[in-house]
Amino acid sequence: MASVETRGLTKQFGEHQPAVDRIDLLAADGEFLVLLGPSGCGKTTLLRMIGGLEPPTSGDVLIGGTVVTNLPPRARRIAMVFQSYALYPHMSVYDNIAFPLKAHHVPKAEMEQRIAWAARILGIEEYLKRKPRQLSGGQRQRVALARALVREPSVFLLDEPLSNLDAQRRASARDELQQFQRSIGTTTIYVTHDQVEAMGMGDRIAVINQGQIRQIGPPREIYDDPADTFVATFLGSPPMNLVNDDDAIVGFRPEHFHPAGTHQPQDSDRLFPFVAHREEYLGSERLIYGEIGSDKVVARFPATFVHQIEMGVPLEFKVAQRDLKYFDRETGLRLEGAR
Ligand code: ATP
Repeated sequence: MASVETRGLTKQFGEHQPAVDRIDLLAADGEFLVLLGPSGCGKTTLLRMIGGLEPPTSGDVLIGGTVVTNLPPRARRIAMVFQSYALYPHMSVYDNIAFPLKAHHVPKAEMEQRIAWAARILGIEEYLKRKPRQLSGGQRQRVALARALVREPSVFLLDEPLSNLDAQRRASARDELQQFQRSIGTTTIYVTHDQVEAMGMGDRIAVINQGQIRQIGPPREIYDDPADTFVATFLGSPPMNLVNDDDAIVGFRPEHFHPAGTHQPQDSDRLFPFVAHREEYLGSERLIYGEIGSDKVVARFPATFVHQIEMGVPLEFKVAQRDLKYFDRETGLRLEGAR
């Protein structure tokens, strides 16, 4: 097991804006750290530099406290699983898993033992004789993980490993992967652009945009206390509402926006004039779309909240003071404290 650290890690392709821009990151020993951000923000490039597949333009990578920037991937005790599992189609599952061990001349008895162990942990014992094409996407993903696991790495680097699965399988694969990581305790860095995956799996999330870390922290902190308007609107579905407010921007989550007079009114509630235009019923919840002045906002209620919301007329809605977040209008950065 080992910590992973980057210091001022930068990658510039040609004359473009850096794909990864001076990133300082520390994943603690045994931590599950998620790199989350939109397409093209530099997540994969960052992961590839940590893995030794991409030489950095500047900066360093440390694994277990040792600088490995100039070491090849195989010297880093790292296992990588990518979006495309790249299993060898003509080999059985067993041979696929055995492949990296054979390459390292691991003795046969030990190899068999390690494969049996990984197959048991990942629940693929009954598929060992099959070819990859005879497996479902989720089973193939587990084989790819098993192949990474038998090498007994200090660090797992996973790049959107669940993206080939359908929604239902993704949910169970998320659960399996997280349980597996907890039981094995291997430091894991996991790249995704899916906020549900990030929120559900990460001990901490690093939110990345344009090659820079905008915020890093536990999922709840990122969601409740976004550092800027990018993070505020990248997490949450629907995202945080942002409303122009004198010289700042005020933000609040859709679930904190209620009709005045409901939800135990408090003195410190802030009232907003709200005009609702449309209601969406989603089974477990209701979304009410509308406007505060010229800003579009959404209210979210559990479906058990049956209160009728009238459309197209001025209403009074409220947000508790503690749920209001203020941001600088120019920079988008969070302003300290309530105002
Ligand atoms: P996605 O979620 O779409 O995979 P990402 O966040 O992983 O995106 P990267 O693949 O790291 O993003 O790419 C970051 C930026 O670097 C992009 O603008 C991309 O076009 C650019 N880039 C990546 N690899 C190269 C390369 N080999 N040569 C030139 N530019 C590259």
